[in-house]
Amino acid sequence: MNEYNPVSGSEKPYTAYPPAEGEGPVVNFSQIFEYSPVAIYSCDKDGHITSYNRAVVQLWGREPELAKDLWCGSWKIYYPDGRPMPLDECPMARTLKEGIPFENEIITIEGPDHSFKALQIFSIPLFDGQNRLIGAHNTLIDITDRQLADTRQATLSAIVESSDDAIIGKKLDGTITSWNAAAQRIFGYTEQEILGKPITILIPSSMLGEEELILDNIKKGNRIDHFETMRLHKEGWQIPISLTVSPIKDSKGNIIGASKVVRDVSDRNIAETKQAILASIVESSDDAIVSKDLNGNITSWNSGAQRIFGYSEQEVIGKHITLLIPPSRLDEEQRIIESIKQGKRIDHFETVRINKSGHEIPISLTVSPIKNSRGNVIGASKIARDITEQLASKALVAKLLAEVNSFSEKKDEFIALASHELKTPLTSLKGYLQILARNELEERGQRFLEKSLHQVDKLTMLVEDMLTMSKFEAGKLEFSTDTFDIKTLLLDIIETFSYTNTTHTINHQLYGAPVIIQGDKQRIEQVIINLLNNAIKYSPNADKVHVKMEADDEKVVINIKDDGIGLGEEQQIKIFSRFYRAEGTKGISGLGLGLYLTKQIIDRHHGNIQVQSAPGKGSVFSFSLPRNHTALQEDI
Ligand code: ADP
Repeated sequence: MNEYNPVSGSEKPYTAYPPAEGEGPVVNFSQIFEYSPVAIYSCDKDGHITSYNRAVVQLWGREPELAKDLWCGSWKIYYPDGRPMPLDECPMARTLKEGIPFENEIITIEGPDHSFKALQIFSIPLFDGQNRLIGAHNTLIDITDRQLADTRQATLSAIVESSDDAIIGKKLDGTITSWNAAAQRIFGYTEQEILGKPITILIPSSMLGEEELILDNIKKGNRIDHFETMRLHKEGWQIPISLTVSPIKDSKGNIIGASKVVRDVSDRNIAETKQAILASIVESSDDAIVSKDLNGNITSWNSGAQRIFGYSEQEVIGKHITLLIPPSRLDEEQRIIESIKQGKRIDHFETVRINKSGHEIPISLTVSPIKNSRGNVIGASKIARDITEQLASKALVAKLLAEVNSFSEKKDEFIALASHELKTPLTSLKGYLQILARNELEERGQRFLEKSLHQVDKLTMLVEDMLTMSKFEAGKLEFSTDTFDIKTLLLDIIETFSYTNTTHTINHQLYGAPVIIQGDKQRIEQVIINLLNNAIKYSPNADKVHVKMEADDEKVVINIKDDGIGLGEEQQIKIFSRFYRAEGTKGISGLGLGLYLTKQIIDRHHGNIQVQSAPGKGSVFSFSLPRNHTALQEDI
């Protein structure tokens, strides 16, 4: 470090070589040297400063001591990276040490006032006629401002390049002169593609007028701030943007162009739209949607809340939520807040709240935590549904159901009783008719008697069906497990039909060994009679019905086929329901109960019944019954 010698007045001679007496008026190099704006000094071969001019004193900020200060008159010297530079390593010292010039060396010097300057150094060795080193001179150029400008420029460029906004420069004629990375990201053009192109390339044709307006303002030196508009992407789609345009001035203050900062606001627009949709949903909801902070203070209140609780938004915002909670249920709120703080949601919790007039309202409550962007719970949103009507209709349904059940029980009781009461006279009527039939009767009487017996049988079947149904519905139908030969049963029924039925003959090939099964013989008989009766009833223009039976170790399958009116696909699905009668059965008597009971009986035997039919093509009803009886016995 050199000693601090304050800079003295300007009258002080700075040179060791004053002009010789009587040498003027010629060009005086000493004076040129003295007053040159370029800082220059020299040293002898030992490094002592031998001459210096005003400019170097200005730079150093101190006066060197001639023939004493070594190599450099600066107070302190540093390398460009900021490390202190030992004096004997300064360019002048090295030039004298090595006898070579050092050009374009950069150093930083610190003055006694602690101001720093960046210097470009040119230290050149001096030799005498015998090429002996006699000293050196050094030229110092102050590049502080240039370096500062470079740094500033680099910083600005880095900022422009790293900006999320497009930053675009253009001339006053609209030609694009600069284009940063964000501009490429937003508009799709690379810098090479767009530089020199007119800015209108980015403007939708319907908005070209805007550009003139912007230019007018810029020419007047005005800036345009956050102007929301649309611009064009390279691919042709429009981008919502927010635009800030500022004039660019040259060093003399003339406006030479404009810089545009463009922010893509698509995301913001989407967020705003989402927000608007959510707000309108909240507002139009029939439910009360209320939010509160973690202290329980109400922070938002929709019109549903006003409708249900009677308070307006102004009345409740900032009030505590307990305003709505009956005193007996205050502990509920504590529990809710605890759950919410743990980030848990409460779903459809049925409770009671109080409205403005003090009435209790039954509600179903869903409470969810509200989290901030860092995921911390900051409050809760409550959706409350008024369930007054829901509860009332639930109660009504329960009452109606009870009534229907009791009606249904009464109806079943009535049918059972009525059927029973009907059966007794029918049985005795049939008995008397059978006694009468034993007598010799004239032909007409015999015919009438047969018809009467047939009608009594039909009536008996109907009554029987009704009784079975009512017992079945009441869950009181009992099944017995008989072991019997179903083939014999089938043959017996066919034989009876051949006596009682005059219109159809029943074809069959039921020969061979018996087929023993277990089941309720009487119910299975009822099934077969039902299917045979139907086959005859619904084939009025035919005169035959066909019966087939197949059996293996596991099951027996019986088919009853007719050539009658047949059934459409939709009808086939419905025929096993209670009281269903297909269209086209007018004039054919029936209650629509037979197939319903048939299916119930077969189901209870773990069997299966199906129909194959087409309108006008006749029908085949086939049912199967298992011969493995274990399950059957348990069930029956
Ligand atoms: P019902 O014969 O007393 O009306 P069912 O329960 O036995 O009642 O039959 C229900 C309906 O199924 C009948 O009304 C009829 O429309 C149809 N059906 C039953 N068997 C046949 C058949 N073999 N051919 C055509 N339709 C039939």
